[in-house]
Amino acid sequence: MPSEQDGVMIILSSPSGAGKTTLVKMLSKLHNFEISISHTTRQPRHNESHNKDYFFVDEKEFKRFIKNEEFLEYAKVFSNFYGTTRTPVINKLNKGKNVLFDIDWQGADQIKNKNLDYKLISFFILPPSKEILFERLSNRDMRDKLIAEERMKQFSRDVLHWINYDYVIINDSIETCYSKIKNLIHAEINNGSKDYDAEYIRNHIEKLTS
Ligand code: 5GP
Repeated sequence: MPSEQDGVMIILSSPSGAGKTTLVKMLSKLHNFEISISHTTRQPRHNESHNKDYFFVDEKEFKRFIKNEEFLEYAKVFSNFYGTTRTPVINKLNKGKNVLFDIDWQGADQIKNKNLDYKLISFFILPPSKEILFERLSNRDMRDKLIAEERMKQFSRDVLHWINYDYVIINDSIETCYSKIKNLIHAEINNGSKDYDAEYIRNHIEKLTS
């Protein structure tokens, strides 16, 4: 039975290229914070390792997890499957650890709809502008401009999901963005006052979607 001493679930989602994975890694260094490591059918990138960044599995194994109902949530993103197994998350929360999820909007919706008895705080990270996002996407290992363009189209669809998150944060500088998230988590956990300008965010989203 979940209690006051339980950890908190913290979801970070963003359109591709907004810098969320870096933020999750920074937050995981805080005392008592741990990342939920996902399973994926995607191929590892050159700088990724098994059991650390992801559990890399084939589609057959992934489908076995689905069949055995081991996922708290799962989704198909850019033609690969991604999912969060339930048991490690619940174990961490029950030990009082705050669990960080780097998952997309589909997974965030699923976790939210589960109405678990653990506190949930969700963040949607956005780039400062469409131009900067395109630059960031083009500078990744996927140098292929076509992929960057495809992800820009995906961005226009993904950004619409901001409405389902508790907070939208603009990643214009990684350090500032990190501090904002850290302070909001702290305020949420301790019922403190929150430094959050919803009007500014709405204006920014209007610019990104126009
Ligand atoms: P990438 O392939 O770049 O690591 O991740 C692609 C997208 O999948 C990102 O938006 C990432 O947040 C999302 N993702 C990673 N793990 C999971 C997961 O377990 N569940 C869901 N729903 N999305 C995930």
